[in-house]
Amino acid sequence: MANTPGDAVGPAIRDRRARPLRDLRISVTDRCNFRCGYCMPREVFGPGHAFLPRSELLSYEELGRLVRVFADLGVSKVRLTGGEPLLRRDLDALVSLVASTPGITDVALTTNGSLLAVHAQRLRDAGLHRVTVSLDSLDPAVFAAMGDTKVPLSKVLDGIAAAAGAGLAPVKLNTVLRRGMNEAGLLDLVEFARDGGYVLRCIEYMDVGTTNGWGPSEVVSSAEVLGRIAAVHPAEPVAPGRPGEVARRWRYLDGRGEFGLISSVSMPFCSTCTRARLTAVGELYTCLFATHGRDLRALLRGGIDDAALHAAIAAIWGARDDRYSELRGAGTADLPKPEMSYLGG
Ligand code: SAM
Ligand code: SF4
Ligand code: SF4
Repeated sequence: MANTPGDAVGPAIRDRRARPLRDLRISVTDRCNFRCGYCMPREVFGPGHAFLPRSELLSYEELGRLVRVFADLGVSKVRLTGGEPLLRRDLDALVSLVASTPGITDVALTTNGSLLAVHAQRLRDAGLHRVTVSLDSLDPAVFAAMGDTKVPLSKVLDGIAAAAGAGLAPVKLNTVLRRGMNEAGLLDLVEFARDGGYVLRCIEYMDVGTTNGWGPSEVVSSAEVLGRIAAVHPAEPVAPGRPGEVARRWRYLDGRGEFGLISSVSMPFCSTCTRARLTAVGELYTCLFATHGRDLRALLRGGIDDAALHAAIAAIWGARDDRYSELRGAGTADLPKPEMSYLGG
């Protein structure tokens, strides 16, 4: 049976900055049915782009084994992401494997929501605890432009409702605001979330990867977002629910819910970052902006035993010193950076 959030958290290994390893984000595919310009611009991820062949992806069996070892090292929270994770066949089977791993108390999914209406109940039954749906606009034309997709907005809205109906509540909604593109719709998203009992989280547009043409002038800062929301619905800060939480939480004073601000550009949170990332081919990255990953698949397919795998991952985390967002600037401008769709957002 699946564990439930809130179970006791055991000891964890620590990196060179004394940050424990608590969260594992697993990218289950590099494919996606959207082409959000900030993530997978169509000019780069068009018909000529070579996505990974299936044989390259970690199997669910391999992932299950890795999750067991990561749990032994202190991970209690796993998030499945991508690419679009619901494009991977039978994702509920993976959810079930992860949720039944001793020590894993929280299993979450980040999705663009387009296939969620079909899968929400099965995922919940398999042991999924939480879901985050990316939603950049409630205006169908703006939604289509931001996602560069023909999937209608209504599919995503159905997915959000299905997730809430299946008990995956409160559903979180991730919104990336881009200056001049979807910023005008912020307050519509606020009302939608308040009415539906969802938690809206506004993410600052980040300089991940090298293909999105990011520039600081396109970032709508969390300070600005807070000002705009609080002018209509006064709010007060809420203490973090747990150490390492990336969103700063705010509660509406009228009692109708809360929202979050993820400010990796304007207010980096590297000092409390407890996240490791696993790509679909099994490379372990210790930072969203790390220049390279470590090939765990080669170890798995080379026949390594659990004790040696445990030691290898412990050594990688023990050597971790990443804090890209705190250093962001001239010194980091020319670093090679992996794409978010590959690494797993
Ligand atoms: N396809 C799924 C989705 O969109 O929810 C999961 C993968 S996506 C890479 C995960 C999250 O990363 C999404 O919420 C997306 O908005 C966010 N994201 C992607 N590129 C980003 C960027 N350049 N800056 C900030 N957030 C970004
Ligand atoms: Fe796909 Fe998610 Fe990236 Fe958009 S943000 S292109 S939905 S992986
Ligand atoms: Fe963590 Fe790296 Fe992001 Fe800093 S830049 S919060 S270390 S993933």
